[in-house]
Amino acid sequence: MASSFPSVSELEAAARLLYGQVFGEEPQVAACAPGRVNLIGEHTDYNQGLVLPMALPLVTVVVGSRTPGPDVTVVTATEDADEPRRVDFSLLGDGAALAPGLPRWANYVKGVIQHYRAPPVPGFRAVVVSSVPLGGGLSSSASLEVAFYTFLQQLKPDDEDGVSKALACQQAEHTHAGVPCGIMDQFVSVLGSEGHALLIDCRSLKATAVPLTDPSLVILITNSNVRHSLTGSEYPTRRRQCEEAASVLGKDSLRDATIKDLEEAKGRLDDVAYRRARHVIEEIERTARAAEALQRGAYREFGKLMVESHKSLRDLYEVSCRELDQLVSAATEVEGVFGSRMTGGGFGGCTVTLLQAHAVDKTIQHIQERYGGTPTFYVTTPSAGAQVLSVS
Ligand code: ADP
Ligand code: MG
Repeated sequence: MASSFPSVSELEAAARLLYGQVFGEEPQVAACAPGRVNLIGEHTDYNQGLVLPMALPLVTVVVGSRTPGPDVTVVTATEDADEPRRVDFSLLGDGAALAPGLPRWANYVKGVIQHYRAPPVPGFRAVVVSSVPLGGGLSSSASLEVAFYTFLQQLKPDDEDGVSKALACQQAEHTHAGVPCGIMDQFVSVLGSEGHALLIDCRSLKATAVPLTDPSLVILITNSNVRHSLTGSEYPTRRRQCEEAASVLGKDSLRDATIKDLEEAKGRLDDVAYRRARHVIEEIERTARAAEALQRGAYREFGKLMVESHKSLRDLYEVSCRELDQLVSAATEVEGVFGSRMTGGGFGGCTVTLLQAHAVDKTIQHIQERYGGTPTFYVTTPSAGAQVLSVS
């Protein structure tokens, strides 16, 4: 069976309750931001390419209040490793308080404070509650950053420019979490819209909303519930390999390269660089075609592109793993499934499957039978980007 998850208002209620228990008062402000699933366009964002994610009904909620002094206290309801769930620091002084440290999860909060676009940030108390699985490739990290940024906007308004907000949250992840991520996660968490996937051009930072509300269609996310230790180290390596390949091709980024450019330069690239670049160049092209197919309601065509994307990530980009391959092949064996692929950075995390609504139960059952591990399933719909929940 698919997992049920709390609604935004249920999460907000849980956050308010915890806030009351911890601080003995009511929070004045509440904000939320979603996780995301990427339908197609993987490892293309940091190559200035195209991506096609959608915002999820899985969200992070932040509630809290401004305080008179410079002190910050944040409590998360979500358990992660052995880290304490409460952090206290002061915004006064030499800025050392905002340097990355422990607990690690607080680095996302500190990074957002550091890069907030209307400094200085006042002292505050806050509670975080989330339905986005941590480290599952659905971008709990971007949802935490963007929810926090949206919360800070209620304490001290900025100019409310959405793209700049996404860029600030991306910076937070770079400088404070040490993850040199692209812009996709933060962008769609800020600017996603209900009933739409978002075709983002990561070079121009322009986005086109693609309607995705057909009731006969389901977007099924399957969490492998594995995360291999390669996750952290391989990402910056891939990024570097792409930059090196672009420079051999004489381009600013692989976005500017064609397959013809790549074939002409093949003799000057080692085999690994060639395969990485080929994935990126073809994946950008596939994403453009997939968005166009979705506009036309050509789901079968879209599904085929998803499967091609998966194979390319597996064979050329080498970021898949046995569990993700198993989940994808199990899904594509079921009648009524249009396509399936790994989604997110890889080496574990989730797959995304596009299928006919009537086939959901049998697909879940089939995957469960075929998969060696214990997967979690989410039946999802394209949901809203970050929102202010209430101001009292
Ligand atoms: P993903 O973004 O795919 O979920 P990441 O490794 O990028 O995986 O981010 C996961 C990390 O983000 C967690 O280990 C934790 O440090 C932090 N995080 C995300 N959401 C929360 C939360 N609600 N409370 C505390 N930490 C969180
Ligand atoms: Mg993340």
